[in-house]
Amino acid sequence: MIIILLGAPGAGKGTQSEILQGKLQMVHVSSGDLLRDNRKRCTELGKIAEGYMVKGALVPDDLVIQMIVERMDAPDTEHGILLDGFPRTPPQAAALDEALNAKGKRVNRALYIKVEDETLLDRLSGRWTCRNCGHVYHEKFAPPRTPGVCDVCGGELYQRDDDKRETAIIRLRVYFDQTMPIIDYYRNRDILCEVNGEQPIETVTADLLECLR
Ligand code: AMP
Repeated sequence: MIIILLGAPGAGKGTQSEILQGKLQMVHVSSGDLLRDNRKRCTELGKIAEGYMVKGALVPDDLVIQMIVERMDAPDTEHGILLDGFPRTPPQAAALDEALNAKGKRVNRALYIKVEDETLLDRLSGRWTCRNCGHVYHEKFAPPRTPGVCDVCGGELYQRDDDKRETAIIRLRVYFDQTMPIIDYYRNRDILCEVNGEQPIETVTADLLECLR
């Protein structure tokens, strides 16, 4: 099974992927996480990606495509992949199809978590992430028990540079210009399932699971 999670930054893709990967026994592949990991390790890719990410822009297609195709070749992806944050542009969607075709595979389902524009900015600009385990909190909607400390692992919480308000506005604009077209790409292939992302987390999960039945 190859499943794609679509939705704007702040729609809840990361939160739902974390839950779904456990329930579905699939590997969660997040392009954003892979890029942040490359930045942390100061790889060549990480150094190039940083300049785009801090501005809220997309990292060039060829670099992201190569990174994801390599990740999809790892043995742990054999039983299924939950792709989060990729593809984000029409050329990325085409490259994904090409890479999967070559292996006799295809995208089975594209899950679209839909959230109204006003809600997205509120969600993004109050977001805090654990430096250690990556768990995401929200100062208003999902605060940690102790401010600044991760409930899961006790790690320190920080605000991602691209979650600051000005950058969040740019990321949303980039999403509407460059990523929205791929929603229709999967809708036209009849594999898109749309879920209301404004509901409580457990309800969104239930609806997503229903899409996969
Ligand atoms: P995310 O964690 O998915 O919100 O991604 C954080 C940032 O990483 C984005 O704002 C982009 O700069 C970069 N990024 C993640 N995925 C992609 C992608 N598929 N194509 C280009 N840039 C990406």
